[in-house]
Amino acid sequence: MYPFSVSLRSGSSGNSTFIRTESAGIAIDCGLNGRQFALALQSIGQSPRAVDALLLTHEHTDHCSGLGVVMRRHHIPLYLTEKTYQAVKDDLGKVKESLIHLIEPGRAFMIRDVRVLPFSTPHDAVDSVGFRLETADGDIGVATDLGHFSETVRQGLAGCKIVHLESNYEPDMLETGPYPAFLKRRIAGSRGHLSNQEAGLAASWLIRHGTRLVVLSHLSEENNHPRRALEVVRSYLPEAGAGTGVDFQIHVSPRHVCSGLFSCKDHLVGQIAPNGTNLPGDQLSWLEPDQDEDRRETV
Ligand SMILES: [Zn+2]
Ligand SMILES: [Zn+2]
Repeated sequence: MYPFSVSLRSGSSGNSTFIRTESAGIAIDCGLNGRQFALALQSIGQSPRAVDALLLTHEHTDHCSGLGVVMRRHHIPLYLTEKTYQAVKDDLGKVKESLIHLIEPGRAFMIRDVRVLPFSTPHDAVDSVGFRLETADGDIGVATDLGHFSETVRQGLAGCKIVHLESNYEPDMLETGPYPAFLKRRIAGSRGHLSNQEAGLAASWLIRHGTRLVVLSHLSEENNHPRRALEVVRSYLPEAGAGTGVDFQIHVSPRHVCSGLFSCKDHLVGQIAPNGTNLPGDQLSWLEPDQDEDRRETV
C-alpha cells in the first residue's frame, strides 16, 4: 500500500501531514504535541520511530508547536530554511545541532529514496515553503498557508498526483464573523490564506495539469465549513474545464483526527481503508466531522 499520504491534523489548531514510501517516513510540520503525534501515527499503523525526517513549512505555531519535543524524544532530523530556523530556534528548546538540516527553496534534497523539492509560498512568514515529494508511483504535494496560488506554487505542484491544498475560508463567513478587522484583512490578503473560491480555481488548474486527488486542508473553524468548502471547490471544476473524461477526487481533511490514507499506487488514486483495500473515493469525499470524531475517539 506504499506510498501514501495522510493528514494527521489540519487547521489552525495544528497541522501535520505524514507521507510513507517503501523506505522513508516523512512528516511535514508538527503542530500537535508529542503524545498526539505518536497516537496519530499509531492509529494508522505507524510509529514515530518510522519517521526519518520532519520538514517544516514555516514558523507559525500551528505548524511547529510539537517539533522540539518530537525531535528530542525520537531523535528525528529536521529540514527547514535558515530564516525559518532562526525564527523557531528559541521555541525548539535544546535540540542537537546535528539534527538540523538547512534547505533552500527551489533546491531539491533526498530523504532515503524520496526526492524532496521545497518551493516558496506567499504567506506572512519569514521564508515559508511548500513541499513536493517524488515517489516511484507519483508525486505528492503539500501547500497550505497560501495568500494566493502563485506561479512558484503552480510550478512546485504541477503534475503531482496527490495535492494537500489549503481551502481556508469562505469570504462571507470571514466578513461577517467575529474576527477583528486587521485579522480579516490579514487572512484575505495576498500573503494570508486561500479562500474556498481560490482553492476551487487552484484545484481546477491542478487537475488540468495531472492531479488526480486534491485534499482540501487547513480549513478555518470559524470562517469555513467542510461541506461548504467541498461544494465551492467542486463547483469550479466543470466550469474551468477540469474533469471532462478525467477521474479525480476531492477530499476534506478533518481537523482533530487523521484523514484516510491517500495512495497513488498502480495508477489507482484513492483512499485506503485501514485493512488495505481501496474505498470508492467520491462517496467518502466528505465525512461529517462529528461522525468522524466519534469513529476515531481514541486518537
Ligand atoms: Zn501560517
Ligand atoms: Zn497555518
